[in-house]
Amino acid sequence: MTDILHAAVAGVTGDELASMPMPTSVRAAYVRRQDAEMFAGLDSADKDPRRSLVVGEVELPEIAPDEVYLAVMASSINFNTVWTSIFEPLSTFGFLDRLGKEGVWGKRHALDHHIVGSDASGIVLKCGSAVRNWKPGDKVTVHCNYVDDQDPSAHDDSMLAANQRIWGFETNFGGLADVAIVKANQLMPKPTHLSWEEAAVNALCNSTSYRMIVSPNGAHMTQGDKVLIWGASGGIGSYAAQYVLNGGGTPIAVVSSPEKVALMHDLGVEHVIDRKAAGYQFWKDEHTQDESEWRRLGKDIRALVGDDPDIVFEHPGRSTMGASVFVTKRAGTIVTCAATSGYMIEYDNRHLWMKLKRIIGSHFANYREAWQANQLICEGKIVPPLSSVETLENVGEAAYQVHKNLHEGKIGVLCLAEAEGQGIDDPEFRAQVGEDRLTVFRRHGA
Ligand code: NAP
Repeated sequence: MTDILHAAVAGVTGDELASMPMPTSVRAAYVRRQDAEMFAGLDSADKDPRRSLVVGEVELPEIAPDEVYLAVMASSINFNTVWTSIFEPLSTFGFLDRLGKEGVWGKRHALDHHIVGSDASGIVLKCGSAVRNWKPGDKVTVHCNYVDDQDPSAHDDSMLAANQRIWGFETNFGGLADVAIVKANQLMPKPTHLSWEEAAVNALCNSTSYRMIVSPNGAHMTQGDKVLIWGASGGIGSYAAQYVLNGGGTPIAVVSSPEKVALMHDLGVEHVIDRKAAGYQFWKDEHTQDESEWRRLGKDIRALVGDDPDIVFEHPGRSTMGASVFVTKRAGTIVTCAATSGYMIEYDNRHLWMKLKRIIGSHFANYREAWQANQLICEGKIVPPLSSVETLENVGEAAYQVHKNLHEGKIGVLCLAEAEGQGIDDPEFRAQVGEDRLTVFRRHGA
């Protein structure tokens, strides 16, 4: 580790950091362009991130005027790092090459290695000349909405921007590294009561779920709404469940094991369906769905909460969308941000139009939504679903766990932080929020 990184970890002042030179290379986790075909012919399930994710020294480029160098204390695994590392549905080098055509600063991204990672907590080391609101020494978390503020289409809801990108997935220099390059408008204050790894796991999934459940751009849940949440103990689902509880709604959590049922109860969710135990077979075969199985799920939901769900929080995609559209209440909303099990979706459109339901597509969150979601973490109203922690050297294993659905909540990754539990600046507030609440997922995790 170079002097400036030692100094950041030791907590020297921002002025001292500002006066120290940056290293020319840093440790990072990346995939290589030359490996993009390494899994050709294999099924998704057999593509192993442990083979494709490399940890090693990479060159650190210059920062643009609107960017900062961030000393990354911790990061996390998101499903997009799984997609990048198994080169599905396509290689992310195409994204980097497209960004490479956008001027001199864009060109830096089009490399033969892709540094992944779309979450981070850390310390600002240096700021570009156009950065106004942040300075070296600031402790921050990072959201992954990467937008060009000179693009007019980015100035209403920035998620509608024509060239909106996800940092560390559609850009290079992501968070799974000792130093990341981040635009100033991705920065948010680090919650003072959380450790580095607890602070690092939230921004991507928390902001996504905030937009899907709370924001007027998503389902805009109101008090009393019943919300069916697929994958409720997973990354986005674990925040969705908390938003429904906080907003006076009733979550119906779907998970796939008795351990996950117990975790949901500990989080405060009363109504939980174990989809494995129920044995739903929504697809009779590859081409045919079974409406009687959709009906069975609907009956199970009614038996729990006495009604159909006003909102369905959808992301498994092909395997569940038919059922989701069917069980949603008349005039209800299906809000979807993904299709983990397949993106060629099939549902019976009669159930949608005759019952005046709507499907809303949702993707990450704009800066304002991400900031509001981060604020709720800062206030202790949403807790980080950190279930286990890996080192950066073990990033392949961490991504493998997420790929194989062996995890709960979020897996944190220690980058410059040398051990778990560091970085808590406000232990009194932490005690007020409650150690038990803050560690619900950790107790159930690995
Ligand atoms: P995750 O931590 O792996 O959780 C997903 C959960 O979904 C799993 O734990 C699993 O829970 C459930 N699931 C998986 N396959 C299923 C199936 N066939 N049927 C029913 N349930 C299934 O992943 P995540 O971080 O929550 O992300 C979920 C998806 O959203 C990913 O595809 C990710 O790329 C996407 N995503 C999109 C955005 C965006 O902005 N568009 C943001 C974040 C994530 P059980 O086994 O317990 O049921």
